[in-house]
Amino acid sequence: MKRRIRVVQQILQEKGYYSGSIDGIAGPLTMQGLARIDGIDSRLPKTRQITTFIQMEANERGIDAGPVDGLWGPRTNAAFDELVYRIENGEPSPVWRPDEIEVKNPNRWPLQRTSEFHELYGERGKRQTMLDFPYPMRLSWDLRVRCRRTQCHEKVYDSLGRILQNVKEIYGERSIRELHLDHFGGCLNVRRVRGGGSSWSMHSWGIALDFDTRRNQLGWGRKRAALAHPDYNDWWKCWEEEGWISLGRKRNFDWMHVQAARLPE
Ligand SMILES: [Zn+2]
Repeated sequence: MKRRIRVVQQILQEKGYYSGSIDGIAGPLTMQGLARIDGIDSRLPKTRQITTFIQMEANERGIDAGPVDGLWGPRTNAAFDELVYRIENGEPSPVWRPDEIEVKNPNRWPLQRTSEFHELYGERGKRQTMLDFPYPMRLSWDLRVRCRRTQCHEKVYDSLGRILQNVKEIYGERSIRELHLDHFGGCLNVRRVRGGGSSWSMHSWGIALDFDTRRNQLGWGRKRAALAHPDYNDWWKCWEEEGWISLGRKRNFDWMHVQAARLPE
């Protein structure tokens, strides 16, 4: 909320309607500034006025925020991210072209949820083996807990070992820690996909891993997810050289997640 208010204050200031500090607090000066904008109903709750203003500003700049209703939904959220990008960079954000991220498939990972997939990986939770991490990891949701190894499917064992060894060589242990590449969010987990789907998660076979879960939450897009930052280009290269698929890089959600299975185009 503070971030939204700060953006509102900044825009109001540019328009000459606000002279207070950019502090993210919707105090009387901020609300007085908003009251001077046509189309803002001062009788509405503060949050609704702020959202209305953001929607109006986005639409005015050609960013589709949907109907101006003062309600914060995914569309408003996406428009807000773009609005912030333009304010910070003075230009629209580069177009997202996941198709241009070419991922070869040297290990011939199967397309997820096909007969070829089930043939290779077999039953959920079976044929697991232990892989020793080449550098120490910690549990993403409880950093006091060290993880020296993980279970994974025997078919991905060699590839996973090569990837993590590469990561270690490229980044070194210090950068690994600084970039949270040692924040391990788990591998094998026999469960359905998150978000209420009925199909089985790729984690059910021990062929998917999550990293830095706190800073790469499921619904976050590339403007928010840490692993979308260019600092991680080499990280992704390590995975993609081995044909692993990042949901973030391909679908722009669940940036924490990487899997040894292809996605339908
Ligand atoms: Zn995952």
